Amino acid sequence: MQTQQLILNNILETAKQHIAKQGTFKAVFDLDSTLFDVNPRIRKILNDFGYDNAVQSRYPEAARVLQNVNDLKKTYKLKDQIIHMGLPRQPEEFYFLLMEFWKKHFFGNDYLKYDEPYEGAIEFVKEIHDLGAKVIYLTGRDVVRMGTGTEAQILQWNLPLGDRAWLGMKPSKEMDDALFKLEYLQKLPREGVEIWFFENEPANIELVLKDATHVKVIYFDSYHSETAEPPGAHIPRIISFSKK
Ligand SMILES: [Mg+2]
Repeated sequence: MQTQQLILNNILETAKQHIAKQGTFKAVFDLDSTLFDVNPRIRKILNDFGYDNAVQSRYPEAARVLQNVNDLKKTYKLKDQIIHMGLPRQPEEFYFLLMEFWKKHFFGNDYLKYDEPYEGAIEFVKEIHDLGAKVIYLTGRDVVRMGTGTEAQILQWNLPLGDRAWLGMKPSKEMDDALFKLEYLQKLPREGVEIWFFENEPANIELVLKDATHVKVIYFDSYHSETAEPPGAHIPRIISFSKK
């Protein structure tokens, strides 16, 4: 199996050679759990829910737990997170309010600034862009709820945007993430183009491997929504963008 260092250096080398031959190289990056760790966003949302006045007066014990929550489980499932935090015995209404609060802010603009890039992620995107590659941030976030926050986040981390770099976001939340990404990748021109796709969701990868076979996939092994099995060993796998 290739080491992460080898995988990343090979991609940079391939981009360099392809661009030298007048070809186009597109590096396509998913955002959530690929370039960015979303757990700091989740932690801040849970903290703030714990500081909500109504929550503090109605559920003082749970509020204290939420205010101090630090070590989170690597999961997208709020239910698993609740069990992990030791809050499984609360009234129904508490979970309802928490879920509403979480949904509103996780899928909103205001908390995206708390996401933290994975090691080497910012540097890698810049490096491949500097080589002349086009960079696409292809995300399941929708432009209506998360458009301005996502653009601000790209700029917050000084990631390229505008010059050979752009965002691909879902036009509406109802769209299926995997289908949106597949169709987006299928529509990209293919003539003289190499497309490399970095993604953490096995379900999205599965569809691309099946129906966009010209796209090369790198599996970012962080955590995912557990709707499909991770790809096999034939797909290169990285856990960060560090080349050390
Ligand atoms: Mg993702």
